[in-house]
Amino acid sequence: MTDAAGAAALEALHEQIRACVACPLSRTRIQAVPGDGPVTARIMAVGEAPGEKEDQTGRPFVGAAGQLLTKLLEGVGLQRADLYICNVLKCRPPGNRDPLPDEVEACAHFLDAQVEVIRPDVILLLGRHALQRILPGSPSISRSHGTRIRDRGRLYVPLYHPAAALYNGSMLATLQEDMAKVRQYLDEAEAERAREAGLAVMSDAEAEAVAAAHEQMSLF
Ligand code: URA
Repeated sequence: MTDAAGAAALEALHEQIRACVACPLSRTRIQAVPGDGPVTARIMAVGEAPGEKEDQTGRPFVGAAGQLLTKLLEGVGLQRADLYICNVLKCRPPGNRDPLPDEVEACAHFLDAQVEVIRPDVILLLGRHALQRILPGSPSISRSHGTRIRDRGRLYVPLYHPAAALYNGSMLATLQEDMAKVRQYLDEAEAERAREAGLAVMSDAEAEAVAAAHEQMSLF
């Protein structure tokens, strides 16, 4: 798909989300919050559900948790504008209560479609709801945060939700450490891609020699 066709497909999906009335949250929302960011994003971040500010503006992560997320990303040299950011639920649960299973189920196909259109290399799973929705059966967020999970050619990194870290100093410190790991995982993935691209332009014999040397080095 060209970038222009991708952008059109993403906008059409956002329109479907804005028009959705599949669950009762459509009756209590001000507006749906489809997602934000370029279709070319290599990194996607998935949160839980819109809060009050998001419901008012139609954009994800624009409240206090969003500001913290932006700072955490910038702290490791990433720009929020380079990510595609969305949520498990596209509409605000009243009073910011936890998503209900039926709501997650009704919204699931939208998140699946967003992943299909963006095709990111890395998905940051912000909090337990994103983790269980995308990688069901995973160990809890307190056990899996900061780890790198590979699944069907894609990299996932579960992280504590920024809202949980807003008023918890030790969780914030952990989230900062985990963001530094995200940066390291991205750098390693980039180096691996560059190495593979380099191998692709070599003859088979050259590529085998380089791969063997690489293997040898990784033994030390
Ligand atoms: N929390 C979320 O999970 N998503 C938002 O968009 C804002 C706060």
